[in-house]
Amino acid sequence: VFFRPNHKQIPRGTSSQSQVLERLRTAFESGVTIPEKFRRTQLTNLMSMIKDNEEQIVNALHKDLTKPKFEAILSEVDIVMNELHYALSNLTSWMQPEYVSKNLATKLDDCFVRREPLGVVLIIGPWNYPMQLLILPMIGAIAAGNCVVIKPSEVSAATDNLITELMPKYLSKDCYAVVRGGPKETQALLKNRFDHIFYTGSQAVARVVLQAAAVHLTPVTLELGGKCPCLIYGRVNATAAAHRLVWAKFFNAGQSCVAPDYVLCSKATRDALVPALRQVLEDFYGSDIQKSPDMSRIVTPKHWTRLMGLLNRTKGKVVVGGEHDEKDRYIAPTVVVDVAEDDALMEEEIFGPILPILTIESLEESIKLTKRKEKPLAFYVFSDESSVVKKVLENSSSGGFCSNDGIVHMALPGLPFGGVGNSGFGHYHGHWGFEAFSHRRAVMLRGWALEKLNALRYPPYSDEKLSWLRWTTSPKSCSIM
Ligand code: NAD
Repeated sequence: VFFRPNHKQIPRGTSSQSQVLERLRTAFESGVTIPEKFRRTQLTNLMSMIKDNEEQIVNALHKDLTKPKFEAILSEVDIVMNELHYALSNLTSWMQPEYVSKNLATKLDDCFVRREPLGVVLIIGPWNYPMQLLILPMIGAIAAGNCVVIKPSEVSAATDNLITELMPKYLSKDCYAVVRGGPKETQALLKNRFDHIFYTGSQAVARVVLQAAAVHLTPVTLELGGKCPCLIYGRVNATAAAHRLVWAKFFNAGQSCVAPDYVLCSKATRDALVPALRQVLEDFYGSDIQKSPDMSRIVTPKHWTRLMGLLNRTKGKVVVGGEHDEKDRYIAPTVVVDVAEDDALMEEEIFGPILPILTIESLEESIKLTKRKEKPLAFYVFSDESSVVKKVLENSSSGGFCSNDGIVHMALPGLPFGGVGNSGFGHYHGHWGFEAFSHRRAVMLRGWALEKLNALRYPPYSDEKLSWLRWTTSPKSCSIM
């Protein structure tokens, strides 16, 4: 099943990493991951790992990001459990051969697509949802029958420690491993040959991953970020919009790849929206947000400094928030207005609790502005008018799209999750995750029948044979059978 390349010609990582990989390769080649029963057992064990250790997971996430328990359960525990239930309910059908339509020449053959595991795959995770963004892709990889190396982010150290401790207690040590470390160790790991690399993180590091993958011609999934716009046009209830916007933007203190990055709206909408945002923030988090147990912190002092740099450089006007506390890695939910297209806040993905509002009177001009930027991971439009929603949907491109809300579209396993253009390529979640880690092998099982028909292709060639052959191989030829 497994093609072993000439390892002598290929750069290798550290020796301990090579040992781990050798162990996983041997397991994969033995075929142990192929039976459905094995995959089910591992997915069920993964479920137990999450269920038995929910409190420890919540505590680790609190240590790393001061993540509120509510958000931890919603976005790191339940989303993973739901994906596991979904995979276990659908695995049997996902693994079935997919029969394809035939022509007369292949009428008696078995023609189908067979899903096969890719081999030993690598999953590299970021720190913002450090549990979800490792385990969710891993579910697809296990379901598809692969051996898996996961590389947690060193930045979210408490979750990294916990995953490293728990994984070998629940999952097959021969088939699944955690390799730890920062940039140096990750680059060494990337020198090894994998059969797929699934990377979630920044565009800068994605280039490092892609270059390393090129050496081995390894296929890659890149789950990246970008600036997700939120257009608010036409009739819209400012209070309703503010509730959804505040929740989506300040969940995890804005450190979400699908967080609305900036708002585009008319001056009149902005004037109604800003007081509504101020009110909703107070309703959600109280008058002293720093004291609220429901607001996460910025992950490290380095990330805090980057965000404060953006805030210090903006030429816009802070109308909500702006308070900060370096020791506490705290930045208050902040709204900035009068932001120009070339402002510091529009240069890069914000990835923190700062919301710039750009005022542009016409929807068409707003759409044009978004087109001047790279394609984002998510695109949001808030409006009571379906014609506005339709216009934005039809005149934009992004990984995902959601009207009148933010983030929630990514929690539905039936929808593919992934980027387009600079926000990445490849998809996962639900069946898409199983597909991401499967090879679709084209299979034609032929017998010896219909030799008269087959003989049409053999020399000596003639015009008559050619005309019969063209007919038997056309898709229409089957309709007579
Ligand atoms: P990051 O790129 O800094 O780190 C991600 C992983 O890469 C970590 O495991 C880290 O150890 C490793 N890494 C870091 N520097 C490296 C280097 N020089 N060489 C090799 N490996 C290296 O990303 P991050 O800061 O953890 O995450 C933030 C970014 O990720 C944002 O842009 C965000 O939008 C994006 N993101 C995307 C998704 C998605 O699903 N599309 C989800 C979360 C975050």
